[in-house]
Amino acid sequence: MLARLAGAADDAARREQARELVARWNAELAAGAMPLWSPSIRGALVAGTPWLEVLCPACSTIGAVDLRRLDRHPEGAVAALVLGLHCSRCGPHAPMPRLLGLHALPQTGRPGAALPEPPPGP
Ligand SMILES: [Zn+2]
Repeated sequence: MLARLAGAADDAARREQARELVARWNAELAAGAMPLWSPSIRGALVAGTPWLEVLCPACSTIGAVDLRRLDRHPEGAVAALVLGLHCSRCGPHAPMPRLLGLHALPQTGRPGAALPEPPPGP
């Protein structure tokens, strides 16, 4: 019983730590800087923020990617996912999308609308 309570406390502490990291990352992105670090996919999921929002700098379309649906290693960096994303509206020569942040729900209401999920990982 005590071990279970201790485990629940550990889970809550880990979730809170993940939430703080994601909030800090989102704040740095919102300030216009590309952070020197990135949460892991697992960190984003533990924080309860599985939606990665990205902006196409060419056409200003915002898309959201559900990290829960990706076949990627959970310790992989969220920021690295941007390499596999492209804007379907702008085609194969679209510029690399800009990361907007991680959220509990898609902020645009159009999950995956214009920026499809990255191809399966290696
Ligand atoms: Zn575009």
